[in-house]
Amino acid sequence: MQKELFEVPVLYCNTDKATLRCAVAEDATGLELVVVDKNNSFYRTTFDVNSSLKKIKGDEKEWKAFYDSIIESCNSNDAKVVCNGNAEVTIGLAQFTVTKDASVKDGAYQMAQLLFDSINLRTDSKAATRFTEGLQKQEAELLRQVTAMEQEKRSLADMISFQEADEKANMEEYSTLQAQLSEITERWKVFCAENGKDPEAEDPDAPIEPDFSKPIGRRGTAQDCRKHDEELLRLAKSKFCPAENETVQTKALEGDNDNWLRVIRPYTKSQYDEHIKALPEGARAQCMKVIDKMDQWDYDVWVLQDLADKGSLFYTAYSVFCYWDFFRRFKIDEQIAMNFFTQVEAGYHACPYHNSMHGADVCHVAQYILQKGGLKEKAELTDEDCFATVVAGMIHDYDHPGLNNNFHVKIQSYLATLYNDRAILENHHLAEIFDLCKDPRFDIFHGFSDEQRRDVRETMIEMVTGTDMGLHAKIFGAWKRRIKQDHDLHKKKETQRQALVMAIKMADISNCGRPTFLYLRWGMKLIEEFFMQGDNERHRGDPVSPFMDRAAPSMSKSQIAFMNFVVVPMYESIAEYLPDMHFSVDHAEENKQYWNDNDDSV
Ligand SMILES: [Zn+2]
Repeated sequence: MQKELFEVPVLYCNTDKATLRCAVAEDATGLELVVVDKNNSFYRTTFDVNSSLKKIKGDEKEWKAFYDSIIESCNSNDAKVVCNGNAEVTIGLAQFTVTKDASVKDGAYQMAQLLFDSINLRTDSKAATRFTEGLQKQEAELLRQVTAMEQEKRSLADMISFQEADEKANMEEYSTLQAQLSEITERWKVFCAENGKDPEAEDPDAPIEPDFSKPIGRRGTAQDCRKHDEELLRLAKSKFCPAENETVQTKALEGDNDNWLRVIRPYTKSQYDEHIKALPEGARAQCMKVIDKMDQWDYDVWVLQDLADKGSLFYTAYSVFCYWDFFRRFKIDEQIAMNFFTQVEAGYHACPYHNSMHGADVCHVAQYILQKGGLKEKAELTDEDCFATVVAGMIHDYDHPGLNNNFHVKIQSYLATLYNDRAILENHHLAEIFDLCKDPRFDIFHGFSDEQRRDVRETMIEMVTGTDMGLHAKIFGAWKRRIKQDHDLHKKKETQRQALVMAIKMADISNCGRPTFLYLRWGMKLIEEFFMQGDNERHRGDPVSPFMDRAAPSMSKSQIAFMNFVVVPMYESIAEYLPDMHFSVDHAEENKQYWNDNDDSV
């Protein structure tokens, strides 16, 4: 609000043709002019200080001088009014066009009313207070809007800086790949020359993909366990399971009970506090800030991926195991667990979306739903159920080729034949993991009895196959019917597992329930993966699947439909059972609104 404006009193002036009133507008946005002419017609217009009034004032004059000249002219009746449809008003040198208000039948009465109101305002202290309160409310509202806009500005700035970091990393990777490509091309040319082949005869645009007509070989790395930041693991471990005393750190390993100390010796609580305090700013400190958020919704795998040598899955899995104290609870050999995490991480492809970061993300969210979401308590889940959930989360898209089940069915791939077109990839993720665990170096289940192993395996199979969106209607329908009856899911293994399937399904599409900038980061990656499948289909001469055509993007339409028909109903019904998860519905609604405001369809 403009300070000078408030020094303008209510001014009246009479000309031979009309009566004129000039005062601060009720909403304090500018100067209001009111005119009543001889025919009793009424004219009224507010001149906004930021637009029309500014124009009338001109650039030369200061506001104070401008208002002073208006006041002086009014007080000395130096005003002219010409009424011809509108009222053309001249006050001193300033010219105003005041619009006729035909809805007012008795202009003089209305003018008298205004006069009465302003006298009232001066003499009636309550009216004056009401007026001031009105202004204060407006001010508070404006301030609120400013704060909201500042917040939005900050989150946009965040998003931009993330994108810049992303772009930089992509460019670096791109140049590494370029260098590798030119080396391979050279070797290819030499090979062709030696074997009498024509290097130009190959199709350079052919998408590179595994031969889907054969079983896909085991992925993973040659090393059992990846390179890792031992101090970071030590801090993560000490945060969640600190050593009871200093002897724990030095004693020699004796047996199964010490399995949890096989690799990393944790600090005691007080040592941990000291180390955290002394931790210099940098990548490790940033990673610890993420790990600190284990039971918060804004745990950020993107930061871990960038700062911990692409290890978001490895470090998340390790930290989650410490958080749930699984190493001790199930006597798991820490080295075997670290080998397992390494192989799981390496088994994810470098797809835009279905990569190891997605595995890390789903692992984190699934355990969030168990703990903070209240599922463990409400469904009275066992430790084995929680273990199965965490592991199912991290492996649920293992060896995902970035091409979906429909694609496999369409090209009749080896996997489609093997699994008879039923939950093809989901079966594959599970089978590969259980096969991996036949090797004792990677057997994450080695501490279990046969019965525990069977139980965990069944839960994991139920959960991971449940992530097949082709089964969504069936699974979700059964869930809705079940919770309509009652919420006593804890009474049967079958209904406990039903709840666990819903938890991993929610975790799998939890991007939609994240703050908008994170949701968009994931969304852009997913659409890129869709487009790559579309490219692949086009190259094969097949029709391009809906929403996968790069040439006809329709992310807004597909996302709004997905939100309306899948995400929001599912989140709402989960929140009905777990009220602590309700906040995700609000995020989903906000994200839907984003696409309503930013339609990208052509
Ligand atoms: Zn997934």
